[in-house]
Amino acid sequence: MRTRFAPSPTGYLHLGHAFAAYEAFNFAERHGGECLLRIEDIDHTRCKDEFKTAIYEDLAWLGYDWPKPVRVQSAHISDYQKTLEHLKSRGLIYPCFLSRKEIKPLMENGVYLGPTSPLSKDEFEARIANGETPAWRLSIARAKAYLGAEFERLQFEETGVTVPQAPFGDEVLARKDIGLSYRLCVTHDDALQNITHVVRGVDIAPHTRFQVLFQKLMNWPTPVYHHHRLVLNADGEKLAKRKADTAICDLRAAGLSPQEALDLARGIG
Ligand code: GLU
Repeated sequence: MRTRFAPSPTGYLHLGHAFAAYEAFNFAERHGGECLLRIEDIDHTRCKDEFKTAIYEDLAWLGYDWPKPVRVQSAHISDYQKTLEHLKSRGLIYPCFLSRKEIKPLMENGVYLGPTSPLSKDEFEARIANGETPAWRLSIARAKAYLGAEFERLQFEETGVTVPQAPFGDEVLARKDIGLSYRLCVTHDDALQNITHVVRGVDIAPHTRFQVLFQKLMNWPTPVYHHHRLVLNADGEKLAKRKADTAICDLRAAGLSPQEALDLARGIG
C-alpha cells in the first residue's frame, strides 16, 4: 500500500501537522507500505519557499524519511492544465465569470447548480478580449449525463473517523486567480502516484465524494480514505498556521525532543 502526507507550504508546520504526519507515516509502517511526501503549493498567492524548506527540516527532525524526488506540485502545472484541457474538450467544465458575491444568491442549499443558460461563445470571447479571466466549473448536469446510474453510487471505502459528506454543485476546478484548484491537483496526483490509501485529517473528509466523482469522470482508481481526528487547542478549535506557539520549529528551539513534540501532538505528553 502507499499513502502520502501532502502539506501546503502556507505557514510553518504546527502540532496538527505533526499529528497528521504521524498518522500517515505510522499507517504506512503498520501496513508494510510506504508514505510519500507531496508539496501542495499551487497557490502562489499563499505558498512560500521558506515554508517549503521548513517542511523538509521539521519532518526530518521529527524522524521521518520519504522517497525522493518529492513531487512539488508547482513544478507540474502543465500536467494539471492538460487535465483541464481534457475536461474542456469533453464539455465537462465550463467558464464562469461570476464572483463569489454574485454566486451566493444563486446557491440552493449551499451549492451552485450552474447557470440557467450557458454563456454564448460570443460573450465568452468578448469578455476574454476585455481582459477578464473565468473560473472553470465542473458541470454536475454533464457529469450525471456522462456517468448515468454510476453517478448515484459514487461509493468509496472509508476508515477512521467518518462524517457526513458535503453536498456539491458545480464546483470550481480552475480558480480565476491561479488557474487551478486544490481538488483538481490533489485528485490528479493521488491517481498519478498510485496512492492506495489517503490518510488525512477529518476536516477534508466531507469533500471526499466530490473527489470520487472526479475520479470516475477521469477513469482514475478510487483509493481507500482514512480520516483521522484533528488536534484541537484548549478552546476546542482546530490549530491554525498563524498560531506560532504550536509551530514545530518553535518547539524545537524551546528544547523539546522530537519524541516529546510527537507525544504532545498525540496528546500523550
Ligand atoms: N494539501 C492539503 C492541506 O494541506 C491536504 C490535502 C489532502 O490530504 O487531501 O490541507
